[in-house]
Amino acid sequence: ASGWSLLRDPQYNKGLAFSEKERDAHYLRGLLPPTVLTQLLQEKKLMHNIRQYKVPLQKYVAMMELQERNERLFYKLLIDNVEELLPVVYTPIVGEAWQKYGSIFRRPQGLYISLKEKGKVLEVLKNWPERNIQVIVVTDGERILGLGDLGCQGMGIPVGKLALYTALGGVRPSACLPVTIDVGTNNETLLKDEFYIGLRQKRATGQEYYDLLDEFMTAVKKNYGEKVLVQFEDFANHNAFELLAKYGTTHLVFNDDIQGTASVVLAGVVAALKLIGGTLPEHKFLFLGAGEAGTGIAELIALEMSKQTKAPIEESRKKIWLVDSKGLIVSSRKNSLQHFKKPWAHEHEPVNSLLEAVKVIKPTVLIGSSGVGKTFTKEVVEAMTSNNDKPLILALSNPTSQSECTAEEAYQWSEGRAIFASGSPFDPVEYKGKVYASGQANNAYIFPGFGLGLVISGAIRVHDDMLLAASEALATQVSEENYKNGLIYPPFSNIRKISANIAANVAAKAYELGLATRLPRPQDLVKYAESCMYTPVYRNYR
Ligand code: NAP
Ligand code: MN
Repeated sequence: ASGWSLLRDPQYNKGLAFSEKERDAHYLRGLLPPTVLTQLLQEKKLMHNIRQYKVPLQKYVAMMELQERNERLFYKLLIDNVEELLPVVYTPIVGEAWQKYGSIFRRPQGLYISLKEKGKVLEVLKNWPERNIQVIVVTDGERILGLGDLGCQGMGIPVGKLALYTALGGVRPSACLPVTIDVGTNNETLLKDEFYIGLRQKRATGQEYYDLLDEFMTAVKKNYGEKVLVQFEDFANHNAFELLAKYGTTHLVFNDDIQGTASVVLAGVVAALKLIGGTLPEHKFLFLGAGEAGTGIAELIALEMSKQTKAPIEESRKKIWLVDSKGLIVSSRKNSLQHFKKPWAHEHEPVNSLLEAVKVIKPTVLIGSSGVGKTFTKEVVEAMTSNNDKPLILALSNPTSQSECTAEEAYQWSEGRAIFASGSPFDPVEYKGKVYASGQANNAYIFPGFGLGLVISGAIRVHDDMLLAASEALATQVSEENYKNGLIYPPFSNIRKISANIAANVAAKAYELGLATRLPRPQDLVKYAESCMYTPVYRNYR
């Protein structure tokens, strides 16, 4: 290739790091200023630039431009500075960036499949330059974070998630494919926006919707085979459960909002037992929000309880209560409930508010998964604190604006007794002279390692026991040091090691269940996972 095109290809471009020899061999002379920089120095310079920006969106744009210009350097920055840059390329900033600006400020990323492509989806897949795809993250943009329907502008989420697949999980970037399925949007603001990039129509539903998804799923299998992982991301719950059930038996599919979130929260709860005491089945759970995240978590917790007690899952479910927008889910509401809520309709008189529910149910663990911010009020946290010595409070909703409460509120209102974690990160807070660091209960801990485990074992189906395996691997990565600081998740700075351990545990389960196709099974799965992980160090071009 000519030097000019090398510089313009983000997969190959090294910028000023091209060596003298490479400059000679690849017609780069004169196209670059004379200095040769090391990758480390490039990294230092870019981090310096990014830290200068005071507006988070500028940091995001800078990172996205880097990804488009020099992919390896982008990943080097992200891996080496993961705690600092995760909030930039992921929640909370990514949602805001796409909500406000769409993709108008840059080149398109990922693959757009709209109703216009109906009947041609396989051809569309073939337009993508890479052939060997291992992980697809697909959204239809209907429930982006807690921000609602962003239509075609949901693309930021698959792009961001896949960046984490590479940075945190070590899946090669060229093996990752972000997809947005555009069936329209019900977001009036976008429909009226003259710059909106998506189809200007109300969302297609029913047969028309399911036909396009079916064409997509069929084309994916045809084009990439049986071992490609399809991660459903940020679909609205009226489609999410159905798609997962429908394709779970024919494809390698994973719903991050339902399953990934469940696995990460179970890990946090199990880890928290060291701090709050008791065994999992001895605790009582109350959720605000009974959608994908809420019922997904609830079901995995019940499954794990039943593994421990050997009691039927129906028994374990009775220790878990959920509140939705109409109040506590109870048996008298059963006939009007969506099917995924029905298992949670326990015998109880109606309860209308969360506060009242906390008072009558007396949960030991309170989990927010409603997408509505500021719902864990002072009264709610105080009620949790009066019932429990150490209340476990998880505010999962993203982005930060939708968090059920802030870290500061949780510690203040509980007088420093709450064990707290949140979906989007909060800085440590000082309360009465003591510093409280809270963990980030975010599925970013799970999906990269989970996906890597599926990929390296050549798994062909996802099984619930793999979610438990991932959860267990994450919980065991919390150190004594972390516990001492009140943390129930390990720091993200260790995420590559954590991911390798999760991958190994998931792969082991895939082999055990007979769902792995990569044979023979490697002896040491942690080592094998590590050896498979992408590293962003530059290659030498001869
Ligand atoms: P979802 O399927 O739409 O579910 C939302 C649930 O919240 C529904 O049950 C809804 O009630 C309920 N709800 C809405 N407003 C409420 C209110 N004012 N009071 C009580 N309940 C209310 O959404 P989801 O996929 O579960 O996601 C929910 C949130 O979790 C989002 O903010 C998302 O960002 C976050 N999340 C975080 C993570 C993480 O890793 N931290 C992972 C996944 C999701 P109805 O059923 O009555 O409408
Ligand atoms: Mn999500």
